[in-house]
Amino acid sequence: MGSFKNYITSFFSGLKSLLKGMQVTGKEFVTKKVTEQYPENRATLKIPERFRAKLTLIYDENGQHKCIACGICQNNCPNGTITIESSKITTEEGKTKKVLDKYLYDLGSCTFCQLCVTTCPHNALEFTNDFEQAVYNREKLVKQLNRPSDNKPVEK
Ligand code: SF4
Ligand code: SF4
Repeated sequence: MGSFKNYITSFFSGLKSLLKGMQVTGKEFVTKKVTEQYPENRATLKIPERFRAKLTLIYDENGQHKCIACGICQNNCPNGTITIESSKITTEEGKTKKVLDKYLYDLGSCTFCQLCVTTCPHNALEFTNDFEQAVYNREKLVKQLNRPSDNKPVEK
């Protein structure tokens, strides 16, 4: 008799547990889905503006950047991700001035800490949120941020 009672108790205990599980499953079945169907949803995908995907030099409407090749971002970068190549020119007033030749950025070693952006004294840098940066070759992650057509940075 005792074992029959145990059987009935276990049966109803199991049934209760099953119904509880079914309740959770049923609730999730009708809850609005939040999973992103990437890449099918590329056209409607919203990436937060502050998401840090890639470092860029800011260009103004005249096609000029504000980098003066001071090297502060390069010195502050903990990973050696930035390489500034510069040269000196003589201005029309006869003054010697440093200008940016190449701003090289290795996306493959960047930790997106943003130290470079926050310490740049000329607000010349920003992060874009275009996150699709996959390549088949790591060398392609080294990007020149200034346009090769640049000859002179903006006059100060
Ligand atoms: S981006 Fe800013 S910190 Fe870096 S070299 Fe140019 S001016 Fe200096
Ligand atoms: S975000 Fe950080 S790691 Fe990336 S380039 Fe800037 S300072 Fe270097």
